[in-house]
Amino acid sequence: MSARAGIVVTGTEVLTGRVSDRNGPWLADRLHELGVELALIVIVGDRPHDIQAALRFMADQRMDVVLTSGGLGPTADDLTAEVVGRFQGREMVLDEELQERIAAILAPLAKRWPNLDQAAIRAGNRKQATVPDGATVLAPVGTAPGLVVPPTNDRGPTIVVLPGPPRELQPMWAQALRQDALRTALKDTVDYRQRTLRLFGIPESEIAETLRVAERDGVALERLEVTTCLKRGEIEVVTRFEPAAQHAYEALLEVIRERHADTLFSEDGSSVDEQVAALLRGAGGDGAGGGSGGSRSIATAESCTGGLLAARLTEPAGASEYFNGAIVAYSNEAKMDQAGVPAELIEAHGAVSAEVAQALADGARSRLRADVGVGVTGIAGPGGGSEEKPVGLVWLSVATDPAAHLTRSVHLPGTRADVRDRATTVAMHLIRRALAA
Ligand code: ATP
Ligand code: MG
Repeated sequence: MSARAGIVVTGTEVLTGRVSDRNGPWLADRLHELGVELALIVIVGDRPHDIQAALRFMADQRMDVVLTSGGLGPTADDLTAEVVGRFQGREMVLDEELQERIAAILAPLAKRWPNLDQAAIRAGNRKQATVPDGATVLAPVGTAPGLVVPPTNDRGPTIVVLPGPPRELQPMWAQALRQDALRTALKDTVDYRQRTLRLFGIPESEIAETLRVAERDGVALERLEVTTCLKRGEIEVVTRFEPAAQHAYEALLEVIRERHADTLFSEDGSSVDEQVAALLRGAGGDGAGGGSGGSRSIATAESCTGGLLAARLTEPAGASEYFNGAIVAYSNEAKMDQAGVPAELIEAHGAVSAEVAQALADGARSRLRADVGVGVTGIAGPGGGSEEKPVGLVWLSVATDPAAHLTRSVHLPGTRADVRDRATTVAMHLIRRALAA
């Protein structure tokens, strides 16, 4: 049995969607890594009654550990510490040492803004240093201390109180994990293994069918927790298992390899972006056939994606080693002037065509002096489609040589944003194939 955990995210700004929750997903990942079973995440506003009700709910669901985020600031509307203390049946006491530590953090700030109300600062300081009796204090990353608050009887969850700002919460979580009070509550964690596979170019239903086949073939699926999800046009298969079930995982992997040889592009969880970067650096990539060795430079000429592919290629630190530049050629004139697409090609085949995609790839390659050129041209919609060329049609081409192109078209579903984003994913996979060839 592994420890069970719940997360209570507090903050009216998160509840109303003005700020999207980054703490719940981040903590979920950390718990996952630890082999702790996360049962649920609840989001509540800054009302003490609602925070308390969420804690009650978590306790009723028999959580071993509850993590809260937010509401630790110096102002009166930051109430989490007090609500948690009361919930655990602990009195609030002033921790004088903590009060001094916070005062020391505030001193330089007070100097920088001499007009601040000193009495208010002292009151805030005192409030933040008032903590539940018997709690373990986590040193402030900003000004707010965190807390590990054990239950007063042996039943009920240990509650870890963390600040709202992600840049404060994240280092504080590392600190929390070093505390005996939390380690005791998590002692039942099992050492889980987790493996991620990625596939591109098949519907999710195919994986469901593969799991049925695996089961029929006697793979011990009941020992594996398999989750599949569709993300940016790719399928991610995450499998969690206890070390003793390693052989079951390998049997499943064998079935997936056999049935999806042409679409399984990552067995080690690496993303297509990472694989493309590795191939361009000349490092080869996982299952990429090793590439031809030596680094290669790349450039793009983009119409419908408006530079999004360039943004994606330049995301890794150090991309300047291989990324030369991009031409964003939206109008026909720009395609001709900037990327050197012949006017006759556009006239004869239209701007969204195999021929123009290839010419864009050639243009990116020659004008930006790159080893590899990528051209993207399509109809992102919502208007501008025709029967022959509907919204969502995108032509892509990768040129590795004036005579060598890898060119294809796709029909992408969804909104304009979906089509543009998905086109960059298709492009990344096409680049990967061209480089691995
Ligand atoms: P502070 O001392 O900064 O007030 P706090 O612990 O009281 O710390 P909150 O008041 O709840 O934190 O949140 C402060 C800010 O941190 C929010 O306005 C928001 O920008 C950010 N924040 C809080 N919770 C989250 C969250 N779950 N996801 C992303 N950002 C968050
Ligand atoms: Mg606050």
